[in-house]
Amino acid sequence: MKRITLLLTLFILTISMVRIPEQANSGSNGEKRTFNHIILVTYDGARKYWVDALMEDGTLANLASLKKEGAEITLRITDHNPSTDPGMACIESGYGPDVTGIDMNYFASNVKPSIPEGLTTTERIKAVYSDKWKTALIMPWTQWFVNVTNTADSIFWNQRAETDCWFSSENVTWSQNDPNIWKNALSFSSALLRANFTAHKAAEFIRSNKGSNFYLRVHFVEPDSVGHGYAESVDGRISPKYKQALTECDEALGIIIATLKETGIYSRTVILVSTDHGFKGITHGPPPYPFGDPDITETWLVSSDLEVTNELGWGLQNDISPTCLALAGIDPLEFQPFYNVTSRALPLWKANLNNREMTSPSISDVSYSASVHEGESFNITVKIQDQSGISAAQIRYSYGTIWRTRSLNQEDKILYRGSLGPFVEGTEVRWYLQVVDNSTSLNVAYYPENKTALTFTVTERLAAETNPPTITDVMYSGQVLGGGAFNVSARLQDESGIASVEIYYSSDSEWKHKELAHKGDNIYEVSIRPFDWRTDVRWYLNATDNSANHNMAFYPPDKQPLVFTMKDKVDQGVPFEFLVAGVVLAFIVVFAIIYRFKGG
Ligand SMILES: [Zn+2]
Repeated sequence: MKRITLLLTLFILTISMVRIPEQANSGSNGEKRTFNHIILVTYDGARKYWVDALMEDGTLANLASLKKEGAEITLRITDHNPSTDPGMACIESGYGPDVTGIDMNYFASNVKPSIPEGLTTTERIKAVYSDKWKTALIMPWTQWFVNVTNTADSIFWNQRAETDCWFSSENVTWSQNDPNIWKNALSFSSALLRANFTAHKAAEFIRSNKGSNFYLRVHFVEPDSVGHGYAESVDGRISPKYKQALTECDEALGIIIATLKETGIYSRTVILVSTDHGFKGITHGPPPYPFGDPDITETWLVSSDLEVTNELGWGLQNDISPTCLALAGIDPLEFQPFYNVTSRALPLWKANLNNREMTSPSISDVSYSASVHEGESFNITVKIQDQSGISAAQIRYSYGTIWRTRSLNQEDKILYRGSLGPFVEGTEVRWYLQVVDNSTSLNVAYYPENKTALTFTVTERLAAETNPPTITDVMYSGQVLGGGAFNVSARLQDESGIASVEIYYSSDSEWKHKELAHKGDNIYEVSIRPFDWRTDVRWYLNATDNSANHNMAFYPPDKQPLVFTMKDKVDQGVPFEFLVAGVVLAFIVVFAIIYRFKGG
């Protein structure tokens, strides 16, 4: 019996020991496959358009091979400026500058902020697995670009203790004071900065840690460096230097893949390749999606795991860190501060229509100035609605080559108003409306819908004539009964057109006014109501012309108000006063008779 119990115990123990690593790997991901080795590579400033084109034509063969067995997904940069430090901080933590404080590039700054303690992928992997997972940060920065340095703070500085292999400029023995090295570093031609060199450092780490689980973080700088130096494209075609830079990154990726295969751990490894920001011409920078250039704000992520994608077809750059953590079997949605409060980041495969609404704002009732004279403003009103609220409502306009932005003012819950100008005569102004909702997706709507700009041309300044409008054929209600309306119509004429006609009216000390509506043929009319019966109402008309002088005319011409009195509704010719007097008289007569009868 004892032997059997012992054997049974041993059997159960063996089973549970076998199951331990599997449980550790599955975590709370459900059936999502997890991996023993995670490698995250970023190419600095790699524009999606060229990355896709060069995968397609076979130039980036290694990246294309990962995509073929895995997936590619578009990543939006929504909560920070598309530049290196904010991008690297976002990729490594899942948070934006509201949490990390990394809102710009700090490598040329005296201030050296770091991602707050404990928030990076590396620190979180160590917090869960401690030494069961090895970590590496392999960066090619020179001592000039001290994003990572041993002398001052940097964006990764707080993960120093959790990083088993830290390779960056301080490991390189060359001297900052050597003029040749300095020159080479600045012109981005130093071998030490090259992806090839960095990839060999990554390969060393893989070889010496092939028996462990690990998270390996690698960065290549070439595309950004040559992009700034030579532009990513020339006349719509990829610049030769930029193509060479991407090719060098791909060769370096090939070194890493080859090392994984050589060490026999490729099948248990997931590789993710992405970029910190896009590129356009010789630059990149703010604003983020959806306001910035899509070539800068919409980037890419290629993964060797075909599940690193979703039904939306896009994710956020913030999603990279929770994606890596989930691939390591860690549930990232438990971390504080919660991603959903700040960046709302998710493992990429968990993003769907339920947690990222995709309905664009609705734009309706757009009305705007039919014509614009020199010296006048172009005015626009519009109704805007969205279930998640509105984060931006703007007029985009241009009267040259530069597109400008002006915010609309919110007048009430859904009504927005804006104006442009004044402009000088002959200015041709193109404009459209851009509205962004307040959801994680930052859904955009345009007016016109297809974003094709509308145009107006500013016409000559209105003549400064001095003739006021003429007011003729004034007709108004002869008598107004209680509860009824007082109606006025008039014919208005002016050489520069009528800007407005209003009735001013008062039944006490306060003057009110109401605009007359144009009924055609220069006839304008209005109704005002109701007033208490027997009220005296004073009134006059005030017309203003369209000339630059805003000439005014009144009716009556001397502006002395006319008066009408509201009459009782039941009045049928016998004045009410007579009725009252009649009733009183009848009572007096009746009482007189009774008195005399009683007295007699
Ligand atoms: Zn960059």
